[in-house]
Amino acid sequence: MTGTATVVGAGIGGLATAIGLRRAGWSVTVLERRTELERYGAAFGIHPTAQSALDRLGAGDALREHAVPYRDAHIRTPDGTSIARLPLERIERTAGRPELLISRPYLLDALLAGLDAFGDVPVKLGERVTDVEALAAGQDLVIGADGIRSAVRTARFGDRSGPREVGTVAWIGIADIESPVHGETWGSGRFFGLTPVEPGRTNWYATAPEATTADELRGLFAGWHDPIPHILDATDPATWIRYEMRHLYPALPSFVSADASAGHVALVGDAAHAMTPNLGQGACTAILDADALTRALAAAPPGPAGIAGALRAYDRERRRSAQRTAFASRTLHRFMSTERTRLRNGVVRLLPG
Ligand SMILES: Cc1cc2nc3c(=O)[nH]c(=O)nc-3n(C[C@H](O)[C@H](O)[C@H](O)COP(=O)(O)OP(=O)(O)OC[C@H]3O[C@@H](n4cnc5c(N)ncnc54)[C@H](O)[C@@H]3O)c2cc1C
Repeated sequence: MTGTATVVGAGIGGLATAIGLRRAGWSVTVLERRTELERYGAAFGIHPTAQSALDRLGAGDALREHAVPYRDAHIRTPDGTSIARLPLERIERTAGRPELLISRPYLLDALLAGLDAFGDVPVKLGERVTDVEALAAGQDLVIGADGIRSAVRTARFGDRSGPREVGTVAWIGIADIESPVHGETWGSGRFFGLTPVEPGRTNWYATAPEATTADELRGLFAGWHDPIPHILDATDPATWIRYEMRHLYPALPSFVSADASAGHVALVGDAAHAMTPNLGQGACTAILDADALTRALAAAPPGPAGIAGALRAYDRERRRSAQRTAFASRTLHRFMSTERTRLRNGVVRLLPG
């Protein structure tokens, strides 16, 4: 079926959903509160399932133009000893293609180019949505792709579920040098990650509860294995991003509001299930949501009952799966952050690579 939709939010989830809807023949408008799309952000892991979703959305080639494969990464102790391999080979063997990494601005560009190609999907900047019910009254469907503080979610589900801090500050950056090793190094209550992002550059992320400044962060990782201190020295602190890790809690009872009299609403991405970044699934899950929602709508019979059925099908396909991923990410966060390192590392050594 086709219809009219407004997508609230021009992040990864909103842009991917707008593409899917337009491909299905819908008339789509995207509203974004920022006056320009923020072109910062570090690398996103894109799992083969999300790559397939991007292929279905027609953005796979643009993704691969700037993405790099993620292979041969280890979990290490601060002295550099490898205690396990990340399961990247297994992912590649099973899926027939590798996990990819792409910096957030390139992924945004890929999606924006996909949308621009239609020539008739306005992305209206500087449009902060506050009256969700008025918006829903004038459309067949409103999509809340407006992130962890979603106004669309609050309008339909109240404020019982909201952003919760997990008590960890994360720092992320991109160094203009290539690291010879990749993966994560886990210390006591701290960790440091190194991934490729594009030739000649390294994406890094770190947590250290004691650090409040860049100098303190550098000091806390000074004794860690090479090239961690060197990577921090090679990144201008003015470009570092520092943020409180948060997730959506408690989990939502539904990702959709399939009530024709109030207006149909669906949530995608962080608005529906914001998670801690430990599993690197924030972008992937948003892309999978967009693909599942727009496939269900494309296959639905015309009319309000068709939309309601498609929304329920989307909720069935995505809610449990995304909420399990969010729970696993939060659990991994606790496991990585523990100060009981001997027990933790013993468990990690037993993991299959
Ligand atoms: C600038 C930025 C940088 C990021 N950098 C990283 C990173 O380096 N690493 C990482 O793991 N994750 C990062 N993230 C988060 C990551 O992009 C998301 O977790 C994931 O991609 C899911 O995206 P989303 O589209 O659901 O939500 P988001 O990416 O949060 O996008 C939501 C969009 O909705 C807009 N919006 C919010 N409220 C309204 C409203 N009321 N009306 C209209 N528009 C609204 C926001 O401005 C935003 O553009 C970043 C997010 C942003 C916005």
